[in-house]
Amino acid sequence: MDRRIAVVGSGPAGLTFARTLHRHGHPVTVLERDPAPDARPPGGTLDLHEGLGQLALDKAGLLAGFRALSRPEGQAMRILDTDGTVLRDWRPRPDDRANPEIDRGQLRDLLLGPLDVQWGRGVTRVEPGTRDGVLVHFADGRQEAFDLVVGADGAWSRTRQAVSSATPHYTGVTMVETSLDDVDARHPDLARLIGDGSVAVYGVNRALVAQRNGGGHVKVYAQFRTPLDRHATLTPDPNPNRDPVDADADADAEAVRSSLLALFDGWATPVLDLLRHGTAFAHRPLYVLPVSHTWPQVPGVTLLGDAAHLMPPLGAGANLAMLEGAELAEAIATATGPGPAPGDLDETVRTFEEQMWARASRWAEITTTGLERLVSQDPSQALALFDEVQPSSDEVA
Ligand SMILES: Cc1cc2nc3c(=O)[nH]c(=O)nc-3n(C[C@H](O)[C@H](O)[C@H](O)COP(=O)(O)OP(=O)(O)OC[C@H]3O[C@@H](n4cnc5c(N)ncnc54)[C@H](O)[C@@H]3O)c2cc1C
Repeated sequence: MDRRIAVVGSGPAGLTFARTLHRHGHPVTVLERDPAPDARPPGGTLDLHEGLGQLALDKAGLLAGFRALSRPEGQAMRILDTDGTVLRDWRPRPDDRANPEIDRGQLRDLLLGPLDVQWGRGVTRVEPGTRDGVLVHFADGRQEAFDLVVGADGAWSRTRQAVSSATPHYTGVTMVETSLDDVDARHPDLARLIGDGSVAVYGVNRALVAQRNGGGHVKVYAQFRTPLDRHATLTPDPNPNRDPVDADADADAEAVRSSLLALFDGWATPVLDLLRHGTAFAHRPLYVLPVSHTWPQVPGVTLLGDAAHLMPPLGAGANLAMLEGAELAEAIATATGPGPAPGDLDETVRTFEEQMWARASRWAEITTTGLERLVSQDPSQALALFDEVQPSSDEVA
């Protein structure tokens, strides 16, 4: 008999898990809090690494679909000094497929495919060890029992509370995000500055990064060290009760813009134009879980992605989340052939968790150190970090 498997969350982790199980002919229930796939803006672009996110898509049978949609040219990266001098200008070789970019909305649609997600089903609590199995409690007061509940419900996971008391803590760095639309037609100078991929500028304890998405859309990220309380006064939050990472459109855009322009005062005019022309602002204080977050075995419950190992956003989180989703699904498909003993599923999950923890803690170390170097007292640290991690591209500056 098929196991009753549910995944909470339809982000990269949950959808890759569900799609890979689906590929192997296993039914899975996908429970998502958002009322519809397009209920929120999907967010910026993601670079998917060959050995991580792309491997996951291969396991889900979606690598060809990814290649058709992704932007290898988006791997281009330019680094400027705060006075606008170009310090580095890397462009990918024509055949470089190491880390192509894809818009999150396109990735979500690719993963969704034939999946029948249950939208508008916010989970409030996951209760293991009941007579019926693992009980999932919903915001509307209903309950449903499963044999395995996989928590892929992100940074502020409700599922996590069933296995661990860990909660995310603030890194000391805040990101304020803004956007430019139709950049080639409306802001051709900025389009040239950004190029096909990203441009980044590093100063003392602050950074400004602009990244091209598909369709002439650009995301701009201002990053700076600040205590949480000062952050609140710099960019007042109109809805202080939401999950801190679920930033939406922000309060008074002009007040935020002038706070940011004051913070980055003295930087080159074309760089500050990225903020001057930005539309709505959203702020994201960066939170993380402890570097080596593990938990004692709880039969019938596990975690994937940010729910398991929230780390600084330096190009690894979605990649890991997707690979974990694909690997757990493959392991379940292999282990739960016809009629296995109930214990087999928990054993499979435990083996998977140990592999996930080992890999995730290595990446948590890398990204934590990375954030320390990118937003630091000494901006030359940021340049040195890029020099270490850009071996596959041609430098032309
Ligand atoms: C600015 C920024 C840039 C980034 N860039 C990159 C990058 O280039 N490459 C990369 O690999 N990573 C990147 N990351 C990190 C990446 O976004 C995350 O690691 C990734 O989204 C984690 O995927 P997930 O599926 O675990 O969680 P999420 O993407 O957070 O998805 C969780 C899902 O669960 C749903 N949910 C939450 N609570 C509940 C509930 N109670 N009930 C039901 N559903 C629920 C949410 O609505 C959501 O759909 C970036 C992050 C940020 C902030």
